[in-house]
Amino acid sequence: MLAFWGSARAAETPAEPSVFTLPVPVVPVAGSSQHFPVRRIYCIGRNYPEHAIESGSDPKTEPPFFFQKPSDAVQFVKPGTTADHPYPTLTENYQHEIELVAFLKSGGRDIPVEQALDHVYGYSIGLDMTRRDLQRAMGAQKKPWEIGKSFDHSAPMGPVHPVASIGHVTKGAIMLSVNGSLRQKADLSDMTWSVAEQIAQLSKANELQAGDMIYSGTPAGPSPVVKGDLLVGKIEGLPELSVRIV
Ligand code: MN
Repeated sequence: MLAFWGSARAAETPAEPSVFTLPVPVVPVAGSSQHFPVRRIYCIGRNYPEHAIESGSDPKTEPPFFFQKPSDAVQFVKPGTTADHPYPTLTENYQHEIELVAFLKSGGRDIPVEQALDHVYGYSIGLDMTRRDLQRAMGAQKKPWEIGKSFDHSAPMGPVHPVASIGHVTKGAIMLSVNGSLRQKADLSDMTWSVAEQIAQLSKANELQAGDMIYSGTPAGPSPVVKGDLLVGKIEGLPELSVRIV
């Protein structure tokens, strides 16, 4: 049982002695001592038209698709600081994807689009870091993307900003620069599938629950990074996200 409003270590004390306990991954809530316990990390693929086209999809005809990262892939980055982000193993083409992240306070099955945003607790800015060479190689072999997308530290993100403070984030600039040079830029309203539509779609495949988060897709322009690069992501209305590849 997951306590939604967790402390930094939200795992409940088990009734029976167990061989070990595990912390629930959490993301701090901005302007609060509370933490959002992470149950699942869902990510949509190819959700901005120009990125879908550069990736070989037709945004007008293809239905949305999703994958997951492990919940402990979260790397929290405090606003105003630059976090060291480890260059992962096994890749020679490591890429950034800047994304709006939505956090759910409740869920359900077959959620209607019109009610979907009622389940959103808040929003953050996140990076869907990607071992692109492995993702592409596996895709070419019709094997799962997982090794390219779902690995340690692959989900850097800032704190959760509650809807109660900032409202719903449906438009505004989203961008990413590397060493001061702009690599990705779009408007959140360019998304092919809105956050509400993503929640509705996901809830057909799985029962959504409090603690789930959704990476809502990246604009065109993901590009390779190397050790030493400084990545700065921005979404209008949220603090910047800054990481250095080490
Ligand atoms: Mn992505």
